[in-house]
Amino acid sequence: MTQYSGIGVSPGVAHGPVFRITRQVVRKPVPASPRQVFAALEAVAEELERRASAASIEVAREVLEAQSMIARDPALVEAIAARLTEDAVYPDVRDDIRDAFAGFRAALASLGGYFAERVNDLDEIADRTIDHLAGVTQVGSALEVPSIIVADDLTPSDTAAIDLDFALALVVAKGGPTSHTAIVARGLGIPAIVGCVGVDSVPDLTMLLVDGREGVAITDASLTEVAGRAAREEALRARAAGVTGPGRLSDGTPVTLLANAGNVDGVVAAASAGAEGIGLFRTELAFLDRQTEPTIDEQVELYSSVFAAMAGRRVVVRTIDAGSDKPVPFIAAEHEENPALGVRGWRLNRIDNSLVDRQLQALAMAAIASTADVWVMAPMIATAQEARDFAVRARRLGLKHVGVMVETPAAAIMADHVLAEVNFGSLGTNDLTQYVMAADRLDARLSDLTTSWHPAVLRAIQLAANHARNLARPLGVCGEAAADPQLAAVLVGLGVSSLSMSPPALAEVRGFLAHVDRATCVRAAEAAVSAGSELEAKLAATEILGD
Ligand code: PEP
Ligand code: MG
Repeated sequence: MTQYSGIGVSPGVAHGPVFRITRQVVRKPVPASPRQVFAALEAVAEELERRASAASIEVAREVLEAQSMIARDPALVEAIAARLTEDAVYPDVRDDIRDAFAGFRAALASLGGYFAERVNDLDEIADRTIDHLAGVTQVGSALEVPSIIVADDLTPSDTAAIDLDFALALVVAKGGPTSHTAIVARGLGIPAIVGCVGVDSVPDLTMLLVDGREGVAITDASLTEVAGRAAREEALRARAAGVTGPGRLSDGTPVTLLANAGNVDGVVAAASAGAEGIGLFRTELAFLDRQTEPTIDEQVELYSSVFAAMAGRRVVVRTIDAGSDKPVPFIAAEHEENPALGVRGWRLNRIDNSLVDRQLQALAMAAIASTADVWVMAPMIATAQEARDFAVRARRLGLKHVGVMVETPAAAIMADHVLAEVNFGSLGTNDLTQYVMAADRLDARLSDLTTSWHPAVLRAIQLAANHARNLARPLGVCGEAAADPQLAAVLVGLGVSSLSMSPPALAEVRGFLAHVDRATCVRAAEAAVSAGSELEAKLAATEILGD
């Protein structure tokens, strides 16, 4: 029995034989003329198009269509033509093809997050072109019995080539929460784990137990283990299905359940998932793909649509959280050695001190014309001075509920000073965890360090929560930690009064909280905080809270 851990990106429990998808890598030189390279690219584009029209999952179809468009992009053809200038057969074109993709690759990688994970889609086009020239056919995957799909990584073409009706779960060694694997699994409603290092060496047909909620895959697990995990999952789902309405503990203590969104569609999805409001509206998406700053009128239009979709409810809008690994095209930035620690979030003010004022102005204009309860907050605040600066600028424009993200260790430790400047705080546990643990949140190899269950992170949260309580400032959580039902209960036990998460997680968190009371949450929090490791913390809390 071997256990592999990764990031659970789609919940559920599955048990079945492993079906491995491996790719053949062309290791010999590939001679070709420019004309043959262009013909190969076109053939790849046609193949991707054919797979797109056969794909049953909409997001998978969209990715395949986008890939076929990239394969036909004139800029790519130009980049290849700039390398292969002679009308002759070159002895080996593999590096020329890969280099031609390098510009696109770097542009996507520098955007970080979702965009960075699309780099694999680009690499796949280059690989397919080389395969085509070398006459290599990736073995068509004959998946004919229900199986657990295991791979180093899954590309859109891989998943398009297999009959996903037989896929019980997807487990890959690479990838992140927004990778193709995660998107496909959620679309199919099957469990999935990404960043599961080592799993790709498990031989075909080995029986594998997959728990997509916990992010663990176990070979040759006992039937008791399989049944236990399946029963826990079933209980969670059943509990979720039976509870509706605003978030409450079993003793009636309210816990406001909000949703995270980045565009109007996300806000609409949140409303239909029963969110009591939006706890984090990420505004940067409106800026990142723009060559020029959106005008105040354009911004007013966007924020008005968001507020209209949440009329009468709370909407917490975060001012632009970009810079460094998410460069804003219209702000000149310098190269940084440590972008996560660089000029990002509120620190963008050091480059352009008026961008946030225009954003706040647009927010104030949209807020006045709407019935939504508009709160605004600033990201990456590290000092009380920054919090004061933000509060002064927001209040000057008539915005009343002004807060800060507590996502740097400095803000958590100094919360007595930082929160004194504002009306509320919101714990960004994704960043707080990466900074407390000094572990890059995007690096799958460090997933054991980037869990908010770590007592070091919980102690930082406890510090901030105690300061917030003393100042009578509401403190919420808007990082991924809020979406883990047991961890959500621990956070409530630490003193958090609202939880904001992606809409699909709401039902289970609501269902779980409804069966625990405040005293139990406090006991679970105390046990987790005093544990010696993230595993002990989770175990101790789960023992008190139940599954
Ligand atoms: C966080 O850091 O927890 C957070 C919610 O912000 P983001 O994930 O956008 O950095
Ligand atoms: Mg953050």
